[in-house]
Amino acid sequence: MLPWAVRRTRLPLLALRCVACPSGRATLGDGRFRVNANGKLLDVWLLVNCVSCDRTGKLTVHERVPVRSLPADRLAGYTANAPSLVVDTLLDPSIARRNRYALDWNGCWELHAPPPPEVCWPLEITVVFDAPVPVRPERLIAQGLGVSRSEIACRVKIDIPLNRRVNQDFSFTLLGPVR
Ligand SMILES: [Zn+2]
Repeated sequence: MLPWAVRRTRLPLLALRCVACPSGRATLGDGRFRVNANGKLLDVWLLVNCVSCDRTGKLTVHERVPVRSLPADRLAGYTANAPSLVVDTLLDPSIARRNRYALDWNGCWELHAPPPPEVCWPLEITVVFDAPVPVRPERLIAQGLGVSRSEIACRVKIDIPLNRRVNQDFSFTLLGPVR
């Protein structure tokens, strides 16, 4: 089995409309949360900045939740703007749905694909996603093997649709050497 890896090289932009300008992209900026306590209830937002006019926007992370419902270390992470928590929050699909943004992964990831050995056919290759980058298997395999998309159809056996975007681990079998 040969492992390939999809790795994040930097954080993706947010495809998110700005209320102040026509820009459709925002960035995490410094990666800060805003925590607001109101009695025993908490609001937590993640702050983002428009890439064009720098206006600050707020993504809702928690809205009027009881303080006690959040684990202490999570709460400390929000208060301290813990970088790993900032990243996890940005990449959390439920946060993206709630705040109606998509992630723009263009230029923010790379594929590590060691060349297949000369022997041992067929060869199973597993693609491991270190970051949830949505990619079409066809495009990824073409890039990793350095072959055209049309060649893939006769050289690769795969159980998922080649054309539908995935963002989690999958495997395929390479039936013979690629030229
Ligand atoms: Zn703007």
